Amino acid sequence: MSTALPLVDPAPPASKRGRTTPPRHLADLDLAGRRAAVAALGEPEFRAGQVSHHYFGRLVRDPARMTDLSPASRERIAAELLPTLLTPVKELSCDGGTTRKTLWRLHDGARVESVLMGYRDRVTVCVSSQAGCGMGCPFCATGQAGLTRNLSTAEIVDQVVWFAGQAVDGLGPHVPSRLSHVVFMGMGEPLANYNRVLDAVRRLVAPAPEGLGLSQRHITVSTVGLVPAIERLAGEDLALTLALSLHAPDDDLRDELVPVNQRWKVAEVLQSAWNYAARTGRRVSIEYALIRDVNDQPWRADLLGRLLANKLAHVNLIPLNPTPGSRWDASPKSVEREFLRRVRSAGVPATVRDTRGREIDGACGQLAASENRPQLENRGLTRLGERGKAEQ
Ligand code: SAH
Ligand code: SF4
Repeated sequence: MSTALPLVDPAPPASKRGRTTPPRHLADLDLAGRRAAVAALGEPEFRAGQVSHHYFGRLVRDPARMTDLSPASRERIAAELLPTLLTPVKELSCDGGTTRKTLWRLHDGARVESVLMGYRDRVTVCVSSQAGCGMGCPFCATGQAGLTRNLSTAEIVDQVVWFAGQAVDGLGPHVPSRLSHVVFMGMGEPLANYNRVLDAVRRLVAPAPEGLGLSQRHITVSTVGLVPAIERLAGEDLALTLALSLHAPDDDLRDELVPVNQRWKVAEVLQSAWNYAARTGRRVSIEYALIRDVNDQPWRADLLGRLLANKLAHVNLIPLNPTPGSRWDASPKSVEREFLRRVRSAGVPATVRDTRGREIDGACGQLAASENRPQLENRGLTRLGERGKAEQ
């Protein structure tokens, strides 16, 4: 694989923006930027605070409900700072309404998905960072479709704000009304859209009305292992939770399952994870999708245990969600149990994800793929909509 991966992909200058660049939205800007933007519209600067309070504080996305603004101001501000970025195409729910999934159409017709999972102690939303993904992991529905484009900062933030509003409206009798956790485990490789993802994270953690006021620790960025970007993330003033999608402890197999491994090998990517843990004090979640007769052998469990022993790591075993047409399947439960036992016996904390949301084609990538290929409708669960230990 060439070294020319889209590691950091800043927004193009206005003159070069193509038709697919999403319109600017207030969530693209920090508070100072919003003040400048409203001033440029001839509005007093305090309007920036008012609109931010509606959007981030009250979770109101519809300008018509911002009734303390005069109709004229509202119209001007809505046109310039509150364009519709996400239009729901399909909404599914299960588990008594505590698992919900939305398929969105973006302004240019691209499709992405997000999933909400409500538990007794938390509400987690899983967001997409790109339409499609260019990393080509052969077991992943998103990877099979290739990359369409990066999402803008506001397209990412708006997925969270939408679901935060649903949580306030009520998800069920035992589910908190405040959205607390965000995982970047939907469509796309977040670290290949670094600047926009980081800006989105800054909006999520900034206190209202600048942002949503979430805890840094409650935000999980899951990566395929783009080493320079992991190093860069470790140098930010943020203590996010890092999830590393390892899926194989040896280069031979990882080269195949995670093609980016041809550029950054297992030893190198693990070293960057340990640097991240040392810099942030955060335990790294090692993601391992168990694939029958591919990566689930006892010797691979032992090797994984040896690589992770005495490190600040937690293993998250994910039962594979077979993608349509794939030759791969999930490992049998007995094999999964033995794998788990061996990793734990090396002293490494490890858990298996509980599945969540089977009835709603539970995960990012697969539904969007099935929209484009109707014969794939109603396939089983994919990875989203599963209880992710990574976000804990
Ligand atoms: N691109 C990032 C984040 C999105 S994928 C990454 O790869 O980490 C989120 C997680 O789902 C990753 O751990 C990914 O390997 C896993 N995943 C993808 N397809 C899957 C499938 N069919 N079954 C189980 N897990 C899958
Ligand atoms: Fe992209 Fe992650 Fe899927 Fe790999 S697993 S293709 S990095 S979304």
